[in-house]
Amino acid sequence: MRICSSCGREAVYQRPYSGVSLCRRCFSQSIEQQTRHTIARFTMFRPDDHIALALSGGKDSVSLLHVLHAIEDAFPRSTLSAILIDEGVEGYRAEAKAIAQENCARLNVPLHVYSFPTIFGSSLDEIAEAATARGSLSVCSYCGVLRRQALNVAAKAVGASKLALAHNLNDEVQSMVLSLLRGDLAGLARTHPVLEVVEGFVQRVKPFCRIPEREIAFYAHVAGVRFQRTPCPYRESSMRSDVRRFINGLEDQHAGITFSIAKTLNKIQGALPAVEALKGMRHCQRCGEPAAGMTCRACQALDELGLTRLSRKPPSGARYRAPT
Ligand code: SF4
Ligand code: ZN
Repeated sequence: MRICSSCGREAVYQRPYSGVSLCRRCFSQSIEQQTRHTIARFTMFRPDDHIALALSGGKDSVSLLHVLHAIEDAFPRSTLSAILIDEGVEGYRAEAKAIAQENCARLNVPLHVYSFPTIFGSSLDEIAEAATARGSLSVCSYCGVLRRQALNVAAKAVGASKLALAHNLNDEVQSMVLSLLRGDLAGLARTHPVLEVVEGFVQRVKPFCRIPEREIAFYAHVAGVRFQRTPCPYRESSMRSDVRRFINGLEDQHAGITFSIAKTLNKIQGALPAVEALKGMRHCQRCGEPAAGMTCRACQALDELGLTRLSRKPPSGARYRAPT
């Protein structure tokens, strides 16, 4: 029997990159401690922040909800709420919404649900249909642009000062390597754990950026949280999938290499000039959201698909609060 390196109880998890074995309790505590450490290391929060967590219902965001809720208890002036973006995918988001409501109710965290139709005027199903009609195979590329903006719009609408994303170590390394492969230095700079403050954006932070994906999955299992396992029907095989397989294969052979890649690329990010693409941002003529040119990428994407965006007034979201 393997024993916990911290307390001597029976161990349930071994970290190949450090050789440390942990029992259930010490494992959960270590995830919370690592998250606290990352938050402090990158000065992610102020004591009076209103943190809006982007909650998708998947293992990462549901776990982050539980960890931030535990951490937030020590900061009575802070506020935690959750935002769920319902893209409008028939038969997919209903389960995620139910799971998000269940977890938020359990922790008494208010949940705000915004949808693509209320923000953009079209559901992802309609966007996918328009994309297919014009011969584009990549629904994810449209969805990614729109989701990013929807989260910013929703975070502003609920009065948040920070937008917490549940990207884990593997997500972050994949995004940075993809930026490198595409020669996209601005993209690489934008993958930093904390983006600088830019007018019109709610500052995005990533408290899980130093935690491997499989540890978050195990945390969710240990904490007994329910999360959505069904993948989005539009998920496609992409260059990211190839990068994921490559890095995971390296990690299996050389434990800890994902951390090394992250550290090296974070140093490169530190040496890059401030995110030029975010400097001198204007307001989109159509929707008022930040834009590099006259119109933002979301409005451009909808134009490209021949879809009309709704007016610029802030969208209303559905708000759920657990009974006290
Ligand atoms: Fe959007 Fe693609 Fe993610 Fe589905 S898999 S939610 S289409 S980015
Ligand atoms: Zn716009």
